[in-house]
Amino acid sequence: MSEVPAHRLYIDGAWTDGTGDAWTEVVNPATEEVIGRVPEATQEDAERAVRAARRAFDEGPWPSMPVQDRAAVMLRMAELLERRAPELIDLNIAEVGSIRMLAEMLQVGVPLAHFRDMAERIMPGFAWERPLPPTPVPGLGLGQGVMRREPCGVAALIPAYNFPLFLSVMKLAPALAAGCTTVLKPAPAAPLEVLALAEVAEEAGLPPGVLNIVTGGVEAGRVLTTDPRVDLVSFTGSDTVGRQVYAQAAEGVKKVVLELGGKSPSVICEDADLDKALGEMLAGIATNAGQGCSLFTRTLVHRSRHDELVEKAVAALGFITVGDPADPATAMGPLISRAQRDKVEKLVRAGEEEGARIVHGGRRPAGLDRGFFFEPTLFTGVDNTMTIARTEFFGPVGCVIPFEDDDEAVRLANDNPYGLAGSVWAADPLRAYGIAGRVRAGMVMVNGGGGGVTPHVAFGGYKQSGLGREWGEHGLDEYLQTKSITWSAASG
Ligand code: NAD
Repeated sequence: MSEVPAHRLYIDGAWTDGTGDAWTEVVNPATEEVIGRVPEATQEDAERAVRAARRAFDEGPWPSMPVQDRAAVMLRMAELLERRAPELIDLNIAEVGSIRMLAEMLQVGVPLAHFRDMAERIMPGFAWERPLPPTPVPGLGLGQGVMRREPCGVAALIPAYNFPLFLSVMKLAPALAAGCTTVLKPAPAAPLEVLALAEVAEEAGLPPGVLNIVTGGVEAGRVLTTDPRVDLVSFTGSDTVGRQVYAQAAEGVKKVVLELGGKSPSVICEDADLDKALGEMLAGIATNAGQGCSLFTRTLVHRSRHDELVEKAVAALGFITVGDPADPATAMGPLISRAQRDKVEKLVRAGEEEGARIVHGGRRPAGLDRGFFFEPTLFTGVDNTMTIARTEFFGPVGCVIPFEDDDEAVRLANDNPYGLAGSVWAADPLRAYGIAGRVRAGMVMVNGGGGGVTPHVAFGGYKQSGLGREWGEHGLDEYLQTKSITWSAASG
Protein backbone atom coordinates (compact mmCIF):
# COMPACT_ATOMS: atom_id res chain seq x y z
CA MET A 1 0.00 0.00 0.00
CA SER A 2 2.83 2.41 0.82
CA GLU A 3 4.18 2.37 -2.78
CA VAL A 4 0.82 3.20 -4.26
CA PRO A 5 0.56 6.95 -4.95
CA ALA A 6 -1.87 8.68 -2.59
CA HIS A 7 -3.68 11.72 -3.95
CA ARG A 8 -5.36 14.69 -2.30
CA LEU A 9 -8.44 16.85 -2.71
CA TYR A 10 -8.21 20.18 -4.54
CA ILE A 11 -10.19 22.85 -2.72
CA ASP A 12 -9.98 26.63 -2.99
CA GLY A 13 -6.79 26.55 -5.03
CA ALA A 14 -4.87 24.22 -2.67
CA TRP A 15 -4.17 20.50 -2.41
CA THR A 16 -5.54 19.29 0.87
CA ASP A 17 -6.01 16.10 2.86
CA GLY A 18 -9.55 14.94 3.42
CA THR A 19 -11.00 15.18 6.92
CA GLY A 20 -11.92 11.49 6.94
CA ASP A 21 -9.71 8.46 7.10
CA ALA A 22 -11.31 6.41 4.32
CA TRP A 23 -9.61 5.93 0.95
CA THR A 24 -10.79 4.62 -2.39
CA GLU A 25 -8.36 2.31 -4.13
CA VAL A 26 -8.10 2.76 -7.89
CA VAL A 27 -7.72 -0.65 -9.52
CA ASN A 28 -6.30 -1.44 -12.94
CA PRO A 29 -9.15 -3.55 -14.35
CA ALA A 30 -6.83 -5.56 -16.59
CA THR A 31 -4.42 -6.63 -13.84
CA GLU A 32 -6.49 -6.09 -10.65
CA GLU A 33 -3.51 -4.19 -9.21
CA VAL A 34 -4.09 -1.09 -7.10
CA ILE A 35 -2.55 1.84 -9.00
CA GLY A 36 -3.50 4.72 -6.77
CA ARG A 37 -5.66 5.78 -3.89
CA VAL A 38 -7.77 8.87 -3.40
CA PRO A 39 -9.40 10.27 -0.29
CA GLU A 40 -13.05 9.48 0.22
CA ALA A 41 -14.34 13.04 0.67
CA THR A 42 -16.58 13.48 3.69
CA GLN A 43 -19.64 15.68 3.92
CA GLU A 44 -17.42 18.30 5.54
CA ASP A 45 -14.89 18.17 2.65
CA ALA A 46 -17.63 18.48 0.04
CA GLU A 47 -19.21 21.39 1.92
CA ARG A 48 -15.84 23.12 2.09
CA ALA A 49 -15.50 22.75 -1.70
CA VAL A 50 -18.99 24.13 -2.25
CA ARG A 51 -18.22 27.07 0.07
CA ALA A 52 -15.06 27.83 -1.92
CA ALA A 53 -16.93 27.68 -5.22
CA ARG A 54 -19.71 29.91 -3.86
CA ARG A 55 -17.22 32.49 -2.60
CA ALA A 56 -15.32 32.40 -5.90
CA PHE A 57 -18.57 33.05 -7.73
CA ASP A 58 -19.95 35.77 -5.45
CA GLU A 59 -16.72 37.58 -4.66
CA GLY A 60 -14.07 36.34 -7.10
CA PRO A 61 -13.03 37.72 -10.47
CA TRP A 62 -14.02 34.79 -12.71
CA PRO A 63 -17.72 35.42 -13.50
CA SER A 64 -17.22 39.09 -14.35
CA MET A 65 -13.77 38.83 -15.91
CA PRO A 66 -13.57 40.16 -19.49
CA VAL A 67 -14.39 37.26 -21.71
CA GLN A 68 -11.08 37.36 -23.56
CA ASP A 69 -9.19 37.06 -20.22
CA ARG A 70 -11.31 34.04 -19.26
CA ALA A 71 -10.64 32.52 -22.67
CA ALA A 72 -6.90 33.16 -22.26
CA VAL A 73 -6.77 31.15 -19.01
CA MET A 74 -8.74 28.34 -20.63
CA LEU A 75 -6.42 28.31 -23.65
CA ARG A 76 -3.45 28.02 -21.28
CA MET A 77 -5.18 25.07 -19.62
CA ALA A 78 -5.83 23.54 -23.05
CA GLU A 79 -2.19 23.88 -23.99
CA LEU A 80 -0.99 22.31 -20.72
CA LEU A 81 -3.43 19.43 -21.13
CA GLU A 82 -2.25 18.88 -24.70
CA ARG A 83 1.35 18.69 -23.48
CA ARG A 84 0.33 16.05 -20.96
CA ALA A 85 -1.64 13.96 -23.47
CA PRO A 86 0.79 10.98 -23.51
CA GLU A 87 0.65 10.69 -19.72
CA LEU A 88 -3.16 11.03 -19.72
CA ILE A 89 -3.44 8.29 -22.34
CA ASP A 90 -1.34 5.90 -20.23
CA LEU A 91 -3.38 6.77 -17.16
CA ASN A 92 -6.62 6.12 -19.04
CA ILE A 93 -5.41 2.71 -20.22
CA ALA A 94 -4.42 1.85 -16.65
CA GLU A 95 -7.53 3.02 -14.80
CA VAL A 96 -10.31 2.37 -17.36
CA GLY A 97 -8.78 -0.45 -19.39
CA SER A 98 -9.28 1.30 -22.76
CA ILE A 99 -7.25 -0.05 -25.64
CA ARG A 100 -4.55 2.42 -26.79
CA MET A 101 -6.36 3.56 -29.93
CA LEU A 102 -9.50 4.40 -27.98
CA ALA A 103 -7.49 6.15 -25.29
CA GLU A 104 -5.65 8.26 -27.85
CA MET A 105 -8.64 9.21 -29.95
CA LEU A 106 -11.82 9.31 -27.93
CA GLN A 107 -10.76 9.22 -24.30
CA VAL A 108 -8.12 11.96 -24.52
CA GLY A 109 -7.93 13.39 -28.07
CA VAL A 110 -11.56 14.45 -28.37
CA PRO A 111 -11.89 16.13 -24.94
CA LEU A 112 -8.72 18.11 -25.46
CA ALA A 113 -10.02 19.34 -28.81
CA HIS A 114 -13.33 20.20 -27.16
CA PHE A 115 -11.64 22.10 -24.36
CA ARG A 116 -9.82 24.28 -26.90
CA ASP A 117 -12.96 24.72 -28.98
CA MET A 118 -14.94 25.93 -25.98
CA ALA A 119 -12.23 28.45 -25.06
CA GLU A 120 -12.26 29.76 -28.62
CA ARG A 121 -16.06 29.83 -28.70
CA ILE A 122 -16.20 32.54 -26.03
CA MET A 123 -13.69 34.75 -27.79
CA PRO A 124 -15.08 38.13 -28.84
CA GLY A 125 -17.88 37.55 -31.28
CA PHE A 126 -19.95 35.26 -29.04
CA ALA A 127 -23.35 36.88 -28.49
CA TRP A 128 -23.35 37.62 -24.73
CA GLU A 129 -25.75 40.53 -25.16
CA ARG A 130 -28.46 41.01 -27.73
CA PRO A 131 -30.12 44.42 -28.01
CA LEU A 132 -33.91 44.56 -28.11
CA PRO A 133 -34.84 47.34 -30.54
CA PRO A 134 -37.28 50.05 -29.44
CA THR A 135 -40.74 48.48 -29.79
CA PRO A 136 -44.07 50.29 -29.40
CA VAL A 137 -46.36 48.61 -26.87
CA PRO A 138 -49.93 49.83 -27.50
CA GLY A 139 -51.18 51.89 -24.58
CA LEU A 140 -47.87 51.69 -22.69
CA GLY A 141 -45.28 53.46 -24.79
CA LEU A 142 -41.98 52.57 -26.35
CA GLY A 143 -39.87 49.83 -24.75
CA GLN A 144 -36.34 48.71 -25.40
CA GLY A 145 -33.62 46.76 -23.64
CA VAL A 146 -31.09 43.95 -23.88
CA MET A 147 -31.13 40.19 -23.48
CA ARG A 148 -28.05 39.12 -21.56
CA ARG A 149 -26.51 35.74 -21.00
CA GLU A 150 -24.98 35.35 -17.54
CA PRO A 151 -23.28 32.45 -15.75
CA CYS A 152 -25.61 30.15 -13.87
CA GLY A 153 -23.54 30.21 -10.65
CA VAL A 154 -21.98 27.29 -8.80
CA ALA A 155 -22.06 24.11 -10.89
CA ALA A 156 -21.67 20.61 -9.43
CA LEU A 157 -20.16 18.30 -12.04
CA ILE A 158 -20.58 14.55 -11.56
CA PRO A 159 -19.30 12.31 -14.38
CA ALA A 160 -19.45 8.52 -14.89
CA TYR A 161 -16.39 6.26 -14.94
CA ASN A 162 -16.30 5.07 -18.54
CA PHE A 163 -14.84 8.20 -20.21
CA PRO A 164 -13.46 10.09 -17.20
CA LEU A 165 -11.61 12.94 -18.87
CA PHE A 166 -14.02 13.20 -21.79
CA LEU A 167 -17.10 13.48 -19.56
CA SER A 168 -15.41 15.84 -17.10
CA VAL A 169 -14.23 18.19 -19.85
CA MET A 170 -17.68 18.06 -21.46
CA LYS A 171 -18.94 19.66 -18.26
CA LEU A 172 -16.00 21.73 -17.06
CA ALA A 173 -15.16 23.51 -20.33
CA PRO A 174 -18.61 25.05 -20.89
CA ALA A 175 -18.99 25.78 -17.16
CA LEU A 176 -15.72 27.74 -17.11
CA ALA A 177 -16.48 29.39 -20.44
CA ALA A 178 -19.84 30.57 -19.10
CA GLY A 179 -18.17 32.04 -15.99
CA CYS A 180 -19.47 29.47 -13.51
CA THR A 181 -17.45 28.15 -10.61
CA THR A 182 -17.39 24.41 -10.09
CA VAL A 183 -17.04 21.42 -7.82
CA LEU A 184 -16.14 18.31 -9.78
CA LYS A 185 -16.54 14.85 -8.28
CA PRO A 186 -15.00 12.13 -10.45
CA ALA A 187 -16.40 8.61 -10.45
CA PRO A 188 -14.75 6.53 -7.70
CA ALA A 189 -13.41 3.96 -10.18
CA ALA A 190 -11.59 6.48 -12.39
CA PRO A 191 -10.51 9.68 -10.63
CA LEU A 192 -6.83 9.87 -11.62
CA GLU A 193 -7.03 11.52 -15.05
CA VAL A 194 -9.59 13.97 -13.72
CA LEU A 195 -7.21 15.21 -11.02
CA ALA A 196 -4.90 16.41 -13.81
CA LEU A 197 -7.50 19.07 -14.57
CA ALA A 198 -6.80 20.70 -11.22
CA GLU A 199 -3.05 20.51 -11.81
CA VAL A 200 -3.31 22.38 -15.11
CA ALA A 201 -5.85 24.83 -13.67
CA GLU A 202 -3.36 25.73 -10.93
CA GLU A 203 -0.51 26.13 -13.41
CA ALA A 204 -2.63 28.16 -15.83
CA GLY A 205 -3.67 30.63 -13.13
CA LEU A 206 -7.33 29.77 -12.74
CA PRO A 207 -8.42 31.76 -9.67
CA PRO A 208 -8.84 29.75 -6.44
CA GLY A 209 -12.25 28.23 -5.91
CA VAL A 210 -13.24 28.25 -9.59
CA LEU A 211 -12.42 24.54 -9.91
CA ASN A 212 -12.56 22.29 -6.86
CA ILE A 213 -12.17 18.53 -7.11
CA VAL A 214 -13.41 16.18 -4.43
CA THR A 215 -12.90 12.46 -4.87
CA GLY A 216 -15.41 10.17 -3.23
CA GLY A 217 -18.78 8.56 -3.66
CA VAL A 218 -22.34 8.96 -2.51
CA GLU A 219 -21.64 11.07 0.60
CA ALA A 220 -19.90 13.80 -1.40
CA GLY A 221 -22.37 13.38 -4.29
CA ARG A 222 -25.31 14.04 -2.00
CA VAL A 223 -23.81 17.29 -0.73
CA LEU A 224 -23.16 18.48 -4.29
CA THR A 225 -26.74 17.82 -5.33
CA THR A 226 -28.52 19.16 -2.24
CA ASP A 227 -26.44 22.04 -0.87
CA PRO A 228 -28.42 25.27 -1.31
CA ARG A 229 -25.27 27.08 -2.46
CA VAL A 230 -25.14 24.95 -5.63
CA ASP A 231 -27.15 26.37 -8.56
CA LEU A 232 -26.75 23.68 -11.19
CA VAL A 233 -26.04 19.95 -11.24
CA SER A 234 -24.63 18.30 -14.34
CA PHE A 235 -24.67 14.54 -13.90
CA THR A 236 -23.61 11.67 -16.16
CA GLY A 237 -24.32 8.16 -14.99
CA SER A 238 -26.92 5.44 -14.71
CA ASP A 239 -30.61 6.25 -14.87
CA THR A 240 -31.02 4.72 -11.41
CA VAL A 241 -28.64 7.21 -9.80
CA GLY A 242 -29.83 9.91 -12.22
CA ARG A 243 -33.33 9.67 -10.77
CA GLN A 244 -31.90 10.04 -7.25
CA VAL A 245 -29.88 13.07 -8.31
CA TYR A 246 -32.96 14.60 -9.95
CA ALA A 247 -34.95 14.11 -6.74
CA GLN A 248 -32.11 15.37 -4.52
CA ALA A 249 -31.77 18.54 -6.62
CA ALA A 250 -35.53 19.14 -6.71
CA GLU A 251 -35.70 20.43 -3.12
CA GLY A 252 -33.55 23.43 -4.05
CA VAL A 253 -35.09 23.74 -7.55
CA LYS A 254 -31.64 23.50 -9.08
CA LYS A 255 -31.07 23.50 -12.79
CA VAL A 256 -30.28 19.89 -13.73
CA VAL A 257 -28.56 18.32 -16.73
CA LEU A 258 -28.81 14.54 -16.81
CA GLU A 259 -26.88 12.34 -19.25
CA LEU A 260 -28.04 8.82 -18.53
CA GLY A 261 -28.08 5.38 -20.06
CA GLY A 262 -28.97 4.05 -23.49
CA LYS A 263 -29.97 0.98 -25.47
CA SER A 264 -29.47 2.52 -28.85
CA PRO A 265 -30.95 0.91 -31.97
CA SER A 266 -29.30 0.58 -35.33
CA VAL A 267 -31.80 0.12 -38.18
CA ILE A 268 -30.39 -1.80 -41.16
CA CYS A 269 -32.65 -1.74 -44.22
CA GLU A 270 -32.73 -4.45 -46.88
CA ASP A 271 -30.56 -2.46 -49.33
CA ALA A 272 -28.00 -1.24 -46.76
CA ASP A 273 -24.24 -1.57 -47.18
CA LEU A 274 -24.01 -4.53 -44.82
CA ASP A 275 -20.25 -4.44 -44.32
CA LYS A 276 -20.31 -0.84 -43.14
CA ALA A 277 -23.31 -1.48 -40.90
CA LEU A 278 -21.49 -4.51 -39.52
CA GLY A 279 -18.50 -2.33 -38.60
CA GLU A 280 -20.77 -0.13 -36.50
CA MET A 281 -22.42 -3.17 -34.92
CA LEU A 282 -19.05 -4.63 -33.90
CA ALA A 283 -17.96 -1.24 -32.53
CA GLY A 284 -21.17 -1.19 -30.47
CA ILE A 285 -20.16 -4.44 -28.83
CA ALA A 286 -16.39 -4.00 -28.45
CA THR A 287 -15.72 -0.27 -27.97
CA ASN A 288 -14.55 0.20 -24.39
CA ALA A 289 -15.83 -3.35 -23.78
CA GLY A 290 -19.35 -2.05 -24.41
CA GLN A 291 -19.06 0.59 -21.71
CA GLY A 292 -20.36 3.50 -23.76
CA CYS A 293 -23.72 5.18 -23.28
CA SER A 294 -24.45 5.80 -26.97
CA LEU A 295 -23.14 2.55 -28.42
CA PHE A 296 -25.48 0.69 -30.78
CA THR A 297 -26.37 -2.44 -28.86
CA ARG A 298 -29.75 -3.26 -30.43
CA THR A 299 -29.38 -4.17 -34.10
CA LEU A 300 -32.68 -4.08 -35.99
CA VAL A 301 -32.19 -5.67 -39.39
CA HIS A 302 -34.58 -6.31 -42.29
CA ARG A 303 -35.56 -9.96 -42.14
CA SER A 304 -34.19 -10.60 -45.64
CA ARG A 305 -30.63 -9.72 -44.47
CA HIS A 306 -30.80 -11.15 -40.93
CA ASP A 307 -29.00 -14.45 -41.50
CA GLU A 308 -26.31 -12.89 -43.68
CA LEU A 309 -25.61 -10.22 -41.06
CA VAL A 310 -25.46 -12.73 -38.21
CA GLU A 311 -23.13 -15.01 -40.15
CA LYS A 312 -20.75 -12.14 -40.94
CA ALA A 313 -20.93 -10.86 -37.37
CA VAL A 314 -20.09 -14.22 -35.82
CA ALA A 315 -17.09 -14.59 -38.13
CA ALA A 316 -15.85 -11.06 -37.34
CA LEU A 317 -16.35 -11.35 -33.58
CA GLY A 318 -13.98 -14.30 -33.64
CA PHE A 319 -11.20 -11.93 -34.70
CA ILE A 320 -11.66 -9.55 -31.76
CA THR A 321 -8.68 -10.19 -29.52
CA VAL A 322 -9.48 -9.65 -25.86
CA GLY A 323 -6.69 -8.97 -23.39
CA ASP A 324 -4.10 -6.50 -22.15
CA PRO A 325 -5.33 -3.06 -23.27
CA ALA A 326 -1.77 -1.72 -23.33
CA ASP A 327 -0.85 -4.23 -26.06
CA PRO A 328 -1.44 -2.58 -29.48
CA ALA A 329 -2.65 -5.93 -30.84
CA THR A 330 -5.59 -6.00 -28.43
CA ALA A 331 -9.00 -5.02 -29.79
CA MET A 332 -10.97 -5.14 -26.54
CA GLY A 333 -9.98 -4.66 -22.90
CA PRO A 334 -11.72 -5.51 -19.63
CA LEU A 335 -14.81 -4.24 -17.85
CA ILE A 336 -14.17 -1.72 -15.11
CA SER A 337 -14.74 -3.98 -12.10
CA ARG A 338 -15.72 -7.39 -10.83
CA ALA A 339 -19.16 -5.98 -9.93
CA GLN A 340 -19.70 -4.73 -13.48
CA ARG A 341 -18.72 -8.11 -14.92
CA ASP A 342 -21.08 -9.85 -12.47
CA LYS A 343 -23.90 -7.60 -13.69
CA VAL A 344 -23.16 -8.42 -17.33
CA GLU A 345 -22.98 -12.16 -16.59
CA LYS A 346 -26.31 -12.04 -14.80
CA LEU A 347 -27.97 -10.29 -17.74
CA VAL A 348 -26.49 -12.81 -20.18
CA ARG A 349 -27.99 -15.65 -18.12
CA ALA A 350 -31.33 -13.79 -18.11
CA GLY A 351 -31.15 -13.66 -21.92
CA GLU A 352 -30.66 -17.41 -22.12
CA GLU A 353 -33.46 -18.07 -19.63
CA GLU A 354 -35.84 -15.93 -21.67
CA GLY A 355 -35.08 -18.02 -24.76
CA ALA A 356 -32.57 -15.92 -26.70
CA ARG A 357 -29.64 -17.72 -28.33
CA ILE A 358 -25.97 -16.88 -27.83
CA VAL A 359 -24.28 -17.14 -31.24
CA HIS A 360 -20.92 -15.85 -30.01
CA GLY A 361 -19.23 -15.38 -26.63
CA GLY A 362 -21.25 -15.45 -23.44
CA ARG A 363 -18.49 -16.21 -20.96
CA ARG A 364 -15.12 -15.15 -19.58
CA PRO A 365 -12.33 -15.64 -22.11
CA ALA A 366 -10.11 -18.67 -21.55
CA GLY A 367 -6.59 -18.00 -20.34
CA LEU A 368 -7.28 -14.62 -18.74
CA ASP A 369 -7.39 -15.41 -15.05
CA ARG A 370 -6.71 -11.90 -13.85
CA GLY A 371 -8.69 -8.88 -14.92
CA PHE A 372 -12.40 -8.32 -15.42
CA PHE A 373 -12.62 -9.65 -18.97
CA PHE A 374 -15.70 -10.90 -20.78
CA GLU A 375 -16.04 -12.21 -24.33
CA PRO A 376 -17.72 -10.10 -27.02
CA THR A 377 -21.17 -11.61 -27.09
CA LEU A 378 -24.05 -11.69 -29.56
CA PHE A 379 -27.63 -12.83 -29.07
CA THR A 380 -30.14 -13.78 -31.76
CA GLY A 381 -33.69 -15.02 -31.39
CA VAL A 382 -34.36 -11.85 -29.42
CA ASP A 383 -37.76 -10.32 -28.93
CA ASN A 384 -37.81 -6.57 -28.29
CA THR A 385 -39.67 -7.13 -25.02
CA MET A 386 -36.96 -9.34 -23.49
CA THR A 387 -34.82 -8.08 -20.62
CA ILE A 388 -31.70 -8.14 -22.81
CA ALA A 389 -33.39 -5.92 -25.41
CA ARG A 390 -34.59 -3.36 -22.86
CA THR A 391 -31.81 -3.19 -20.26
CA GLU A 392 -28.49 -1.45 -20.66
CA PHE A 393 -25.70 -4.02 -20.12
CA PHE A 394 -22.77 -1.60 -20.17
CA GLY A 395 -20.77 -4.57 -21.35
CA PRO A 396 -19.75 -6.19 -24.66
CA VAL A 397 -23.12 -7.65 -25.55
CA GLY A 398 -25.32 -6.99 -28.57
CA CYS A 399 -28.57 -8.43 -29.86
CA VAL A 400 -30.11 -8.77 -33.31
CA ILE A 401 -33.85 -8.36 -33.95
CA PRO A 402 -35.45 -8.75 -37.41
CA PHE A 403 -38.14 -6.43 -38.84
CA GLU A 404 -40.45 -6.59 -41.88
CA ASP A 405 -40.74 -2.97 -43.01
CA ASP A 406 -39.76 0.60 -42.11
CA ASP A 407 -42.79 1.15 -39.88
CA GLU A 408 -41.97 -1.90 -37.80
CA ALA A 409 -38.31 -0.83 -37.60
CA VAL A 410 -39.32 2.58 -36.24
CA ARG A 411 -41.79 1.03 -33.80
CA LEU A 412 -39.14 -1.36 -32.45
CA ALA A 413 -36.51 1.38 -32.31
CA ASN A 414 -38.81 3.57 -30.23
CA ASP A 415 -40.20 0.79 -28.04
CA ASN A 416 -37.58 1.23 -25.31
CA PRO A 417 -37.30 3.40 -22.19
CA TYR A 418 -34.14 5.06 -23.51
CA GLY A 419 -33.65 7.53 -26.36
CA LEU A 420 -30.00 8.47 -26.46
CA ALA A 421 -28.83 7.59 -29.98
CA GLY A 422 -29.93 5.83 -33.14
CA SER A 423 -28.52 4.80 -36.47
CA VAL A 424 -30.05 4.10 -39.88
CA TRP A 425 -28.48 2.29 -42.83
CA ALA A 426 -30.17 2.36 -46.28
CA ALA A 427 -29.03 2.78 -49.87
CA ASP A 428 -31.30 5.78 -50.36
CA PRO A 429 -30.12 8.55 -48.01
CA LEU A 430 -33.49 10.30 -48.22
CA ARG A 431 -35.27 7.18 -47.01
CA ALA A 432 -32.71 6.84 -44.20
CA TYR A 433 -33.15 10.50 -43.33
CA GLY A 434 -36.92 9.97 -43.13
CA ILE A 435 -36.49 7.04 -40.73
CA ALA A 436 -33.92 9.02 -38.69
CA GLY A 437 -36.51 11.77 -38.22
CA ARG A 438 -38.94 9.25 -36.73
CA VAL A 439 -36.50 7.71 -34.22
CA ARG A 440 -37.03 9.31 -30.81
CA ALA A 441 -33.43 9.88 -29.79
CA GLY A 442 -31.15 12.84 -29.31
CA MET A 443 -28.51 11.78 -31.83
CA VAL A 444 -29.24 9.79 -34.99
CA MET A 445 -26.62 8.85 -37.55
CA VAL A 446 -27.39 8.13 -41.20
CA ASN A 447 -25.11 5.62 -42.95
CA GLY A 448 -22.41 5.97 -40.30
CA GLY A 449 -23.02 9.62 -39.48
CA GLY A 450 -20.27 12.14 -39.69
CA GLY A 451 -20.52 14.74 -36.99
CA GLY A 452 -20.82 12.47 -33.99
CA VAL A 453 -17.64 13.56 -32.29
CA THR A 454 -17.24 17.14 -33.48
CA PRO A 455 -17.46 19.76 -30.75
CA HIS A 456 -20.42 21.41 -32.49
CA VAL A 457 -22.86 18.50 -32.33
CA ALA A 458 -25.19 18.58 -29.34
CA PHE A 459 -24.99 15.44 -27.20
CA GLY A 460 -27.91 14.24 -25.10
CA GLY A 461 -30.97 12.05 -24.94
CA TYR A 462 -34.74 11.81 -25.15
CA LYS A 463 -36.94 9.94 -22.67
CA GLN A 464 -35.10 8.21 -19.80
CA SER A 465 -31.71 8.94 -21.37
CA GLY A 466 -31.77 12.33 -19.74
CA LEU A 467 -32.36 16.06 -19.81
CA GLY A 468 -30.40 18.82 -21.49
CA ARG A 469 -27.51 18.79 -23.93
CA GLU A 470 -23.74 18.83 -23.80
CA TRP A 471 -21.08 19.99 -26.30
CA GLY A 472 -21.05 23.04 -28.51
CA GLU A 473 -23.34 26.00 -28.21
CA HIS A 474 -26.18 23.96 -26.69
CA GLY A 475 -23.77 22.68 -24.04
CA LEU A 476 -22.62 26.19 -23.24
CA ASP A 477 -26.23 27.37 -22.95
CA GLU A 478 -26.88 24.93 -20.09
CA TYR A 479 -24.44 26.91 -17.92
CA LEU A 480 -25.96 30.28 -18.76
CA GLN A 481 -28.99 32.13 -17.49
CA THR A 482 -30.89 34.52 -19.73
CA LYS A 483 -31.68 37.91 -18.26
CA SER A 484 -33.67 40.74 -19.81
CA ILE A 485 -32.98 44.33 -18.80
CA THR A 486 -35.54 46.73 -20.19
CA TRP A 487 -36.35 50.41 -20.00
CA SER A 488 -38.73 52.87 -21.52
CA ALA A 489 -37.25 54.38 -24.64
CA ALA A 490 -39.72 57.23 -24.59
CA SER A 491 -39.13 58.49 -21.06
CA GLY A 492 -35.32 57.91 -21.11
P1 NAD B 1 -23.35 5.71 -11.63
O1 NAD B 1 -24.73 6.20 -11.85
O2 NAD B 1 -23.16 4.50 -10.81
O3 NAD B 1 -22.44 6.86 -10.96
C1 NAD B 1 -22.26 8.12 -11.57
C2 NAD B 1 -21.75 9.11 -10.55
O4 NAD B 1 -22.75 9.37 -9.56
C3 NAD B 1 -20.54 8.65 -9.77
O5 NAD B 1 -19.61 9.74 -9.70
C4 NAD B 1 -21.11 8.31 -8.39
O6 NAD B 1 -20.15 8.41 -7.35
C5 NAD B 1 -22.18 9.36 -8.24
N1 NAD B 1 -23.28 9.07 -7.29
C6 NAD B 1 -23.74 7.87 -6.88
N2 NAD B 1 -24.79 8.03 -6.04
C7 NAD B 1 -25.02 9.37 -5.95
C8 NAD B 1 -25.98 10.17 -5.26
N3 NAD B 1 -26.95 9.64 -4.52
N4 NAD B 1 -25.91 11.52 -5.41
C9 NAD B 1 -24.96 12.08 -6.18
N5 NAD B 1 -24.02 11.38 -6.84
C10 NAD B 1 -24.05 10.03 -6.74
O7 NAD B 1 -22.73 5.52 -13.12
P2 NAD B 1 -21.40 4.82 -13.56
O8 NAD B 1 -21.45 3.37 -13.21
O9 NAD B 1 -20.22 5.63 -13.15
O10 NAD B 1 -21.52 4.98 -15.15
C11 NAD B 1 -22.25 4.14 -15.98
C12 NAD B 1 -23.54 4.79 -16.45
O11 NAD B 1 -23.27 6.08 -16.99
C13 NAD B 1 -24.22 4.03 -17.57
O12 NAD B 1 -25.58 3.92 -17.30
C14 NAD B 1 -24.02 4.90 -18.79
O13 NAD B 1 -24.98 4.78 -19.79
C15 NAD B 1 -24.00 6.27 -18.20
N6 NAD B 1 -23.33 7.21 -19.08
C16 NAD B 1 -24.10 8.13 -19.76
C17 NAD B 1 -23.49 9.01 -20.65
C18 NAD B 1 -24.30 10.04 -21.40
O14 NAD B 1 -23.73 11.02 -21.86
N7 NAD B 1 -25.59 9.87 -21.54
C19 NAD B 1 -22.11 8.96 -20.83
C20 NAD B 1 -21.37 8.01 -20.12
C21 NAD B 1 -21.99 7.14 -19.24
